[in-house]
Amino acid sequence: MTQAVVLFGSPGSGKGTLANLLKDYLKAPHISTGDMLREHIREGNALGVRVAATMQTGALVRDEVVDRLVERRLAEPDAQAGFILDGYPRTREQAERLCNWLDSRGIRELVIHLIVDYNIIVTRLAGRRQCPRCGTLYNMVSNPPRVEGVCDLDGQALAIRDDDRESVIRARLAAYESQSRPLIEFFREKGRRLFEIDASDRTPEALLSQVCREIGSPEAGLRAEPAVSG
Ligand code: AMP
Repeated sequence: MTQAVVLFGSPGSGKGTLANLLKDYLKAPHISTGDMLREHIREGNALGVRVAATMQTGALVRDEVVDRLVERRLAEPDAQAGFILDGYPRTREQAERLCNWLDSRGIRELVIHLIVDYNIIVTRLAGRRQCPRCGTLYNMVSNPPRVEGVCDLDGQALAIRDDDRESVIRARLAAYESQSRPLIEFFREKGRRLFEIDASDRTPEALLSQVCREIGSPEAGLRAEPAVSG
C-alpha cells in the first residue's frame, strides 16, 4: 500500500522539519516543491530563471509549473511505496489535480494540518537559517545549530533565504491566507482524511510521535514501521 502523507500549513509551521523526521520513520522520500524550485534556481536552468523572480516576491509559482514538477517526481521509483509532500498542494487547482491523481491510483492520503499561531510564525521565519548546500533548516531561537552560523551536517556557513526577509515573509503569509488556507475547507468537503494538530509549541520530536500515532492508527489506512536504529 502506498503511504501518502501531505503536510499542510503556513510557511514556518514546521512542515520541512517534520518531513525530515518523518521520512526516516516511513522510509519514504520528502518531496518539497519549494526545495525542488530552489534547486532549479541554483542550477540556473530555464525553469529556475523563470520562477526566481516570482519566488523572490513571495508569490506562488504558476500551477502548471509545480503540477508538472510534482507529477514527474511522484513517477520516480523511490516514490512508489510512499511519499511525504511538503508545500504542495497550495491552490485549489493543485489540490483538485492531486486528489484526482491519488484517487485514480486508489491511494488514500493523510493530510496533516500543522496549526501555528501567526505571531509565532513571524518570529520563526525571521529567525530561520538554511544550509545552502544540503538544505537543512535551523532556527536561531528554537533549533540552533551546534556551532553558531554553521551547518551541523556539512560545516557550511548558514544563510538567510531570500524569501525569509521581512517584506517577503508578509507576502508569503498573505499568499497562504488567500490561496492555501481555504484548502482546509476543500479537504473537509471532499471527505479527505485530515489530521489537525496544534504545532505552536510542540517540539519537532513531540509532533513526530503524535503524527506517527495517527499514521499508525488503523483508520489511516497506513502502516508505519519505526526506523531501525543502530
Ligand atoms: P516553501 O519553501 O514551501 O516555503 O516555498 C517557497 C516558494 O516556492 C513559495 O513562496 C512559492 O513561491 C514557491 N512554491 C513552493 N511550492 C509551491 C506550490 N505548491 N505552488 C506554487 N508555488 C510554490
